[in-house]
Order: sequence, then C-alpha cells, then structure tokens
Amino acid sequence: MADLEELYREIILDHYRSPRNRGELDSPPAHRVEGFNPLCGDEVVVSMMVEDGKLSDLKIAGSGCSISQSSASLMSAAVKGKPVGEVRRLINTFKGMMSIHEASLEGDGHPESNGTNGAEVVAGEPEEIDLDKLGELAALQGVVKFPVRIKCATLSWNALAQGLDEVTAQAS
Ligand code: ZN
Repeated sequence: MADLEELYREIILDHYRSPRNRGELDSPPAHRVEGFNPLCGDEVVVSMMVEDGKLSDLKIAGSGCSISQSSASLMSAAVKGKPVGEVRRLINTFKGMMSIHEASLEGDGHPESNGTNGAEVVAGEPEEIDLDKLGELAALQGVVKFPVRIKCATLSWNALAQGLDEVTAQAS
C-alpha cells in the first residue's frame, strides 16, 4: 500500500495549490476567528455563518505551510453546509486522529486554548477512527509521523471549534 501514501501526498498538494472556499465572509454577520501557530508561523482566518443549526457558509484565509493550508482547505470542504452537531463530531474525530501526538506537545503553553475544544483527549486508547468517514481528511493522518507538524494540521480545526463555541454562546 505504498501507493496510498502517494495518493495522500497528492491530495494534500492539490488542496494546497487549489485551496477550497478561499476568502473571507463579511463580518458581521459572519463570525470570524483567527488562529496562529507560533511553532511554524502559520496563520489561518476562519469565517463562518451558522444558520438554523447548520454551518451554512465558511471561508478560509491566511497563509502558512502546506500542511496548515491544505488542512484548512480539506476541513472547509468537509464541513461546509453540514449541521453543527455533525461538524463537532468531525472535529473530534479529526483531533482524535491527531491527539496522541498532540498531547505530547501540550506542554508548550497555549493560554488561549479555551478548554472546550477537544477537551477529552484520551491518552493511550484513542477512539477507533473511522477512516472511511474522514474521506480525503485521512490524507492528513501521515502528519502524525511528524509531531512538530501536528499543530499545523489542527490549527484551522481549533479555530473552527472555538468559533462554534462562541457562536453557540452568543445564541443562548
Ligand atoms: Zn505549519
């Protein structure tokens, strides 16, 4: 299955070269979250519209390495138009795929983490990850072999999780 790695590399490069849902939504009404990964210098801006319990629109801006930008593009394609509950489950699944190694990086201090996104990171026994459900997102699983790049891959996902939390808090 060496071809699988090749396929994954092609998916990542494709999303890096031709990012999906690129740009920013007018804010307001859209909600905007900026993420920064000091380990690599990646920046991502996620703007999102939540309407009727759905993530009705989403755009990605920012710049950084191929992993951060392709992960953001893959994420946008995977979650746009989906019900918020489904988006949250996908965030958890994706972070589960990255979690073991990310946990080993948590000592580097992220005071801005609000504790609600990916809070239940299980050490040792990750939930079974359904790669079929992840679709193209599975391409990013190779990143776990390079622990310093995991923050690149999760940057946009953390920004999305934070944004959903903030939108939900505003609505209640
Ligand atoms: Zn990076």
